[in-house]
Amino acid sequence: MGKKYQFWFATGSQDLYGEECLRVVAEHSAKIVEGLNQSGILPYEIVLKPTLIDNNSIRKTFNDANADENCAGVITWMHTFSPAKSWILGLQEYRKPLLHLHTQFNEEIPYDTIDMDFMNTNQSAHGDREFGHIVSRMGIERKVIVGHWANQEVQKRIASWMLTAIGIMESSHIRVLRVGDNMRNVAVTEGDKVEAHIKFGWEIDAYNITDIAEYVKSVSESDVKALMEEYYASYDILLEGRDEDEFRKHVAVQAAIEIGFEKFLQEKNYHAIVTNFEMLSGLQQLPGLAIQRLMQKGYGFGGEGDWKTAAMVRLMKVMTAGVKDAKGTSFMEDYTYNLMQGKQGILQAHMLEVCPSIADVKPAIKVSPLTMGNREDPARLVFTSKPGKGVATSLVDLGNRFRLLINEVECLPQDIPMPKLPVATAFWKPEPSLEVGAEAWILAGGAHHTAFSYDVTAEQMGDWAAAMGIEAVYIDKDTTIRNFKNELKWNSIYYR
Ligand code: MN
Repeated sequence: MGKKYQFWFATGSQDLYGEECLRVVAEHSAKIVEGLNQSGILPYEIVLKPTLIDNNSIRKTFNDANADENCAGVITWMHTFSPAKSWILGLQEYRKPLLHLHTQFNEEIPYDTIDMDFMNTNQSAHGDREFGHIVSRMGIERKVIVGHWANQEVQKRIASWMLTAIGIMESSHIRVLRVGDNMRNVAVTEGDKVEAHIKFGWEIDAYNITDIAEYVKSVSESDVKALMEEYYASYDILLEGRDEDEFRKHVAVQAAIEIGFEKFLQEKNYHAIVTNFEMLSGLQQLPGLAIQRLMQKGYGFGGEGDWKTAAMVRLMKVMTAGVKDAKGTSFMEDYTYNLMQGKQGILQAHMLEVCPSIADVKPAIKVSPLTMGNREDPARLVFTSKPGKGVATSLVDLGNRFRLLINEVECLPQDIPMPKLPVATAFWKPEPSLEVGAEAWILAGGAHHTAFSYDVTAEQMGDWAAAMGIEAVYIDKDTTIRNFKNELKWNSIYYR
């Protein structure tokens, strides 16, 4: 995050049609790029590149795109016919996200004036099929978006793809800090870290919890005091009968953890962190409020050593950083059900660590005992979450490969108070229904931990998985158990 990413626009043609035609092609491409940039819909700028007409220029453009660290992807479009053998070497050497925008300059056929010259100049329907053929033949993963470039729906799809492309680019250097191993005896949070490095580019490193605890201990009192003032100005305080000074002392422990952890993360360049309530040597409390705030700042998190979910939360934070009016992204856990007919849903929470970016109300600080572990009562933020549609993902390691589960869910309004529950919550109904959604999730081996966001689509997450070369299964309104079981069987052959 923070990089000024751009996307390159590469128009394909050839020199068979003469100078005048190439002049028109360049003019049309410039107008399309200008129109897209001025739409106000795209989160990143598009940069026009000279029209590509032969092997050398194509190869050079793709290699320049590889080398340019701000370039997050190339958008290709064949204005005229462009013999696709000239694209082979460039495509072979290209390593970044590829969008094939299947559009044409004019929206409507000019019935009164159309002649053969017009047809030869405006033949994307023809040229883009030749290009598409070679990309498919070479087995290269790409996105194809069809429609007129000025159409808002087309522009929204380009915008959505751009965010996926940023995810693909940033995914390759996510660094996860482990200051706690996976919770003893837990299976689903485990996985092959070397394979994750190969497949996704993730670096997953362990430190002693005491290393980071030293950073917490060395936080100055004045820094803690300043952050405490921010806390008390930003959040409601739920004393609930506790002594005010004693309460403040508990909150101050989290303030020191937030400052110490963030310093450690920044100095060592990590983007996500996992903790484990069983392994807290040197810390007075399980990081709660502190982790919630770090998540809101864009760090990934996974509880109980769950580095896969921590990296996924970071990935989804990166993919949603450019979204206007974003509603939030968080680590989450399936906790308990409402099975009443007509009210079905899953109550989502964690021991402490839910990101306040998804809060529907002003969060409140609460200090309560932890039912697990042996530390003092941690301070945490409590709130309910926004209603609305979102996507819950779970990345699981099946022993020989990774599978990404993508479930569309709908968060429902949380009207009924739960005064005795000391954690932040969401309540969602999985698509297509609680019964089918949960059955499919379990059949696919999905975890109890998820990375959740209101601001990504299932399509984006599936496209990211495709770019990583891993299996993705969707659980949505079209899911039926019979088909889903077959899909898992077929996939097990394809992805072995
Ligand atoms: Mn958990």
